[in-house]
Amino acid sequence: MTATEAHIRHNWTLDEAQALFNLSFADLLYQAQTVHRQYFDPNQIQLCTVMSIKTGLCPEDCGYCSQSQSANVELKLEKLQPLEEILSTAKEAKAKGATRFCAAAAWRNLPNSALKKIQTIIGEVKALGMESCMCLGMLTAEQAQALADAGLDYYNHNVNSSREFYPNVTTTHTYQDRLDTLEYVRNAGIKVCCGGILGLGESVTDRANMLIVLANLPEHPCSVPINYLTRVPGTRLGDNAPKLDNFDFIRTIAVARIMMPRAFVRLSAGRNEMSDEMQALCFQAGANSIHGARKVMLTKYVTNPDFDNDMYLFQRLGVALYTPPT
Ligand code: SF4
Repeated sequence: MTATEAHIRHNWTLDEAQALFNLSFADLLYQAQTVHRQYFDPNQIQLCTVMSIKTGLCPEDCGYCSQSQSANVELKLEKLQPLEEILSTAKEAKAKGATRFCAAAAWRNLPNSALKKIQTIIGEVKALGMESCMCLGMLTAEQAQALADAGLDYYNHNVNSSREFYPNVTTTHTYQDRLDTLEYVRNAGIKVCCGGILGLGESVTDRANMLIVLANLPEHPCSVPINYLTRVPGTRLGDNAPKLDNFDFIRTIAVARIMMPRAFVRLSAGRNEMSDEMQALCFQAGANSIHGARKVMLTKYVTNPDFDNDMYLFQRLGVALYTPPT
């Protein structure tokens, strides 16, 4: 076993994870940056683009989400978007340097009636020379296999928080439902993209437990998106969750980096609420991927910084865009 492989563990305990959270900020960032440099070029950041291909009217009650039917939010509802529109967005993102395109649909679970069209989208996105990712809600084992057969590279399905805190987030499906879909995805040979949201009102212990769930999966997720809650008025948690301390967010990034050294740790929703300096600290803590290249993430309520701002930030930090090996 090499020194590098020795960091890859699937037996993290709560005591160990909490000990990391309890380090001084400087010690934690030093440790995270040290691990990061053993696995990644610290001066490269991956750019991924996400697009909502079916928006709103979701029957689930996720308390942070503007697309939930239970949210009191004005939203332009959209059926499954035409292929041309999806590909035109993917091409624009690619031209800006995005290497992965994630198509997200506000479904409880993927309807079989949409499967053929989703398979076509996967094939066409890959034909552009981009990595394909889908986020379509819960899957059956058969559906996961059908997506794998179409060549899907990644499937995004976030656990969002700890098992203990999950009933405060969503009541219309269980934590185990999430883990089951992740298992089908993994068994089908699709890479897992799975992370969470901070600022839902969860405790540090919940954050530690969430990272333990991810790190103790049979394989670490290849991508770990960490979202900073965008408090959308009219959503249950947007209206009620206490404001998150920025240092707590950065600490969680660092602990994720240490516990899952090979994963791309991604700054996802909520970057628009962060200063450039805070994002730079997140990169120092081991984040090496962002969602960007277009303003809207999924709905108008959750937006990315302007692409030019991101590029200017990267220029000031001496960061280059990551290109996956061919
Ligand atoms: Fe539906 Fe996904 Fe929003 Fe939950 S997060 S309400 S499953 S669209």
